[in-house]
Amino acid sequence: MKEKENVRQRAVGILTSGGDAPGMNAAIRAVTRAAIVAGFKVYGIMRGYKGLITDEIQQFSTQNVSNIIQRGGTILKTARCKEFTTPEGRQCAYDVLQRHGIDCLVVIGGDGSLTGARIFANEFNFQVVGLPGTIDNDLYGTDSTIGYDTALNTIMDCVDKIRDTATSHERLFFIEVMGRDAGFLALNGAIAAGAEAAIIPEIATQVEQLDELIANGFRKSKNSSIVLVAESPQTGGAMGLAERVKQKYPDYDVRVTILGHLQRGGSPTAFDRILASRMGAAAVDALLDDQRNVMVGIKNDEIVYVPFTKAIKNDKPINSELMNTLRRLSI
Ligand code: ADP
Repeated sequence: MKEKENVRQRAVGILTSGGDAPGMNAAIRAVTRAAIVAGFKVYGIMRGYKGLITDEIQQFSTQNVSNIIQRGGTILKTARCKEFTTPEGRQCAYDVLQRHGIDCLVVIGGDGSLTGARIFANEFNFQVVGLPGTIDNDLYGTDSTIGYDTALNTIMDCVDKIRDTATSHERLFFIEVMGRDAGFLALNGAIAAGAEAAIIPEIATQVEQLDELIANGFRKSKNSSIVLVAESPQTGGAMGLAERVKQKYPDYDVRVTILGHLQRGGSPTAFDRILASRMGAAAVDALLDDQRNVMVGIKNDEIVYVPFTKAIKNDKPINSELMNTLRRLSI
């Protein structure tokens, strides 16, 4: 008979890192519960890589993740951690994991967090699976990231409200949305809210086209005009654009709204809860299949596993059909 101690129970650590996103809690719940069902011990790691290094770790039962699916933010908290970008910091993190007997990690975060995960996994030959948790939707290989749909809906609600005041005063509004190097929130937010244009970092000519639109008096037949701008050095942000327009067209009543952090908050939409639940369960499948260095994604409603290198390095392309649709409908 085989000795019982040879069959060691596996242990998984879960952390959320980088920018928070609605639906991260649903993902934590899904990973925890699917892992417990599969026979893993589960450890919640607080404050991302920071808590990993400083050993802020506690064992999770199914109760630890009760009543969180509907909550925004992350119960594990999140942080940015400079130390983890150094070999010494990562060694420290590895030692902590060893001490707890944790043999695999699920990292929920964006581009930066998954970059850190990839480096760590390679350095220590450690099994890491990633979940795309970011409102920006800027990870390659997945149609959607956890939090994106909720942020998009928040933007749509805000633009609807701004349009009420914009229409009453016959104003031109530049509304700045998040998105760093990606225009998904600005473009799809513009379509969803019926805005006139979206200025996104992926398409350099947009700024010139905006001039053209204004010069041609695109406001003539309209009570108000709304332009969504992705916050990015490439676009100059909403403030930069508004200044330019004000100087060139002093007759226009131009206003700026920066939506800022409210885009990150709120209860996740049904879409994000379902996405996070499916991805969380799929992350545990990946651990059981001995997959490593992969991010869970969704393509055409099917779960896929994307190597970290692909998810991080490749730019996710903007669908040109969406841009055309926005243009055609903004007459
Ligand atoms: P996000 O995951 O939302 O893109 P960040 O880019 O801020 O957020 O990254 C989150 C954390 O991931 C960083 O604070 C750092 O600890 C870790 N990280 C990012 N890039 C690297 C890297 N090149 N090497 C190691 N760790 C990294």
